[in-house]
Amino acid sequence: MEIRKTCKICNKKLGYRQRTYCSATCRNKFYNKKYSKQHTEWQRKKRDKEASISDIKKIKCEICGKYYRQVGTHIIQIHKISAREYRKQYGFDVKKGQLPNDLKKLKAKQIFENGTVNNLKTGKKFWFKKGSKTAGRYERSEQTMNRLKQLHKFNKR
Ligand SMILES: [Zn+2]
Ligand SMILES: [Zn+2]
Repeated sequence: MEIRKTCKICNKKLGYRQRTYCSATCRNKFYNKKYSKQHTEWQRKKRDKEASISDIKKIKCEICGKYYRQVGTHIIQIHKISAREYRKQYGFDVKKGQLPNDLKKLKAKQIFENGTVNNLKTGKKFWFKKGSKTAGRYERSEQTMNRLKQLHKFNKR
C-alpha cells in the first residue's frame, strides 16, 4: 500500500489517520471522477434506447430514425441543421413545428393565453373606433381599468 503524505486530490497535507484523502469531499471527488465516465456512457445508452422506441408523445427524426420529444432541438444539436432546413429537406411544412400532440396542446394553450392579451388590446381599439369615446369608458368597471393599466405597464416593460 502506498504511503501518502498529501491528499491524492488536493495535495493538502494529510492529518492523523488519513491515508489517501484529506476529507470526504476529496474522496467523493475521486469516486465521482472514476464513475462519471461510466455514468455518462450509461446515460447515453439509456437515451439511445429510449430514442429508439416509438411513442405517440414523440416525433421521429427522419435523419437518424430515432424518436424525440422535441425533435427540433435534437436536429439542431445532433445533426447541426436548423429545424427549418430539416423541414425543407424532408418535405414537411416549413411553417409547422414538429411537436408531439401533447406539447402542441401546451403551446396552443400558451398562444391562447397570449392571444387573450392581444384580444384585449384590439378590443380597446375597437371600442374607441366604433362606440363613442365616453360610452366605452363607462362600460368598463374600475377593475377592468386597473387591469388594463397594469397590462399597459407590463407591455411597456
Ligand atoms: Zn483533499
Ligand atoms: Zn436525428
